[in-house]
Amino acid sequence: MTAPMVSARQVGKTFGTLEVLKGIDLTVEQGEVFCLIGPSGSGKSTFLRCINHLEKVDSGTLRVDGDLIGYRQEGHKLYELHERDIAVQRAQIGMVFQRFNLFSHMTALQNVCEAPVSVQRRPAAEVREEAVSLLQRVGLGNRINAYPHQLSGGQQQRVAIARALAMKPKLMLFDEPTSALDPELVGEVLDVMRQLAQAGMTMVVVTHEMRFAEEVADKVAFMDGGRVVECSAPSVLFRDPRQERTREFLARIL
Ligand code: ADP
Ligand code: MG
Repeated sequence: MTAPMVSARQVGKTFGTLEVLKGIDLTVEQGEVFCLIGPSGSGKSTFLRCINHLEKVDSGTLRVDGDLIGYRQEGHKLYELHERDIAVQRAQIGMVFQRFNLFSHMTALQNVCEAPVSVQRRPAAEVREEAVSLLQRVGLGNRINAYPHQLSGGQQQRVAIARALAMKPKLMLFDEPTSALDPELVGEVLDVMRQLAQAGMTMVVVTHEMRFAEEVADKVAFMDGGRVVECSAPSVLFRDPRQERTREFLARIL
């Protein structure tokens, strides 16, 4: 039996006196597309950031592909992870943010090649070949030598996706990847994400694109106030939500 790709049990996170995650329980199976929706400030980004070690979980257990995040387990004892263990875990998780934080002094191709060569120490020629095919896959085969400022926001975000994929991640996290884009550029990024989903990538996607979530997600979780209020198949969550708070949220945004 394979472990779930992400398993959160009573995950808690506090900033100072602000309790941002109040016991998150959720499971993302291998190969699933899992969408997180909810109002601003509900803890969606914080939860994603915990998965990727950008924040440290304060309580509960968080596992990625069976590995404890933040801790190492021997028998019943837990030990803090070393920096290098954290680096190994992080290299297996790709993340795409709202703002395409590409290296501005590097071409699209150099952006995609950077981490596999300098972090994973893989041979440059092999990485380059893969990077070209990744850029082709996101529809940018003819722009590989363009610098970020020469690309539209949608193109930059597609480079950012190719760059994350170059590390051969087993899990991809997306934090509102289309929120900073002009409306006419949203579709091209969602198309790439849809392709990736169809290719079997496990994805956790924070999004306000409800149509995308409804069409592509296997499961959708509605978060509010640091809790998962409701989690189900999109057909249920969007058409027949069980919780009043989910209904209210959807009524406001749809
Ligand atoms: P969402 O992504 O759902 O909008 P966030 O996870 O970004 O929500 O934020 C949840 C809450 O945590 C917000 O009140 C936010 O202000 C707070 N928060 C997020 N990051 C930090 C931080 N590094 N320090 C203090 N408060 C934070
Ligand atoms: Mg956020």
